[in-house]
Amino acid sequence: MATLEIHDLHVSVDAENGPREILKGVDLTIKQGETHAVMGPNGSGKSTLAYSLAGHPKYTVTGGTVTLDGEDVLEMSVDERARAGVFLAMQYPVEVPGVSVSNFLRTSATAIRGEAPKLRTWVKEVREAMDQLSMDPAFAERNVNEGFSGGEKKRHEILQLELLKPKIAILDETDSGLDVDALRIVSEGVNRVRSTGDVGTLLITHYTRILRYIKPDYVHVFANGRIVESGGAELADQLENEGYDKYVKGGA
Ligand code: ADP
Ligand code: MG
Ligand code: MG
Repeated sequence: MATLEIHDLHVSVDAENGPREILKGVDLTIKQGETHAVMGPNGSGKSTLAYSLAGHPKYTVTGGTVTLDGEDVLEMSVDERARAGVFLAMQYPVEVPGVSVSNFLRTSATAIRGEAPKLRTWVKEVREAMDQLSMDPAFAERNVNEGFSGGEKKRHEILQLELLKPKIAILDETDSGLDVDALRIVSEGVNRVRSTGDVGTLLITHYTRILRYIKPDYVHVFANGRIVESGGAELADQLENEGYDKYVKGGA
């Protein structure tokens, strides 16, 4: 069972007027098979946590540890983290001009699996995954995220998730900008991956809406750069009714 352990993580971002501490001591343990929702107000540092785990160069870890099955994740390059099984679906996925979805997926799968997937089974795998996400096959020939609608970007992120089969999946506001149909399709994809029991999921969200489709095992409230409360799915209902006010008031 893979376990991601985050302990007392402090992260600063390189802002224009110098470094600024955003994460102020995050503690979180995610095991394969578990789904953790991290919920919090805008600007509380949720994306910073996601990027820091994936190894984005703009974020500097100034304290704490992150391990995957005891291996130091913070020592790993971005590629090494992906190969170790850490996957990030970004809140704002980036364009990759000149690279088709099809090539991008195959290159990523090759890098992560250590060998190129057999073409015949791979084509079938991709076609089936796209079909389940209600994606037009022609989509595979488009350049990654170029001119994609919000919904297409998120479906493409879930397509990667389904094909790359990570141990730990970090989904940063995968629900944002989706209409109800797209939200359902994307959630079904996450649930399919989850039902294998092989993935630990960190579901970052501002709204409780997606949690009607994806039932979390644990809910954590994130405010001012740290987790301020943890509970079960009932905590999400409480947030739906009461909002984040009581966690934000007075700051930290
Ligand atoms: P959330 O995802 O919870 O909305 P973020 O992690 O995106 O929060 O941002 C947390 C804080 O860090 C915000 O005040 C934001 O402006 C700041 N921040 C994040 N990334 C950068 C960056 N690259 N440069 C400057 N400030 C940043
Ligand atoms: Mg935000
Ligand atoms: Mg964010």
